[in-house]
Amino acid sequence: MSNIETDERGILITCPKCGRRNRMKYEGLGKVFRCAQCKSELRPLGEPVDVHSDLVFDALISRAALPVLVDFWAPWCGPCKMVAPEIRKVATEAAGQVLVAKVNTEELPSLARRFRVTAIPTMSIFRNGIEVAHQAGAMAAPAIRKFLEQDLVAR
Ligand SMILES: [Zn+2]
Repeated sequence: MSNIETDERGILITCPKCGRRNRMKYEGLGKVFRCAQCKSELRPLGEPVDVHSDLVFDALISRAALPVLVDFWAPWCGPCKMVAPEIRKVATEAAGQVLVAKVNTEELPSLARRFRVTAIPTMSIFRNGIEVAHQAGAMAAPAIRKFLEQDLVAR
């Protein structure tokens, strides 16, 4: 589904059964969501979400009930293109356990500065609004998984 959007309160998705737009609130991620109209269960998000503003980014990392894996990328970056399908794989496997967000550093350079993203791609893990891990360089899915697990084990 490509019509996934993010706003300051949550992730907007379309119910596959009835077509109604629903908001999965960041605070409730990891729990079962039901469509507000047809009440059918909405599957946990299994793909990366794009963030288009600093405000939304701050809301997402501070409110998300799940750890957030952020992919800082740019359209002109070759290795980023290589990483995109890999991070998508991880997002699918970790549906309901980790929220994967993508930040285009061309679009949001202020975020790149704030989180000291000096090379791209860079991946970060956020918990409760705090960056707990940060790694530059392209990674394939197994390395991304390891990166995530290290953080989970450390807790
Ligand atoms: Zn529905």
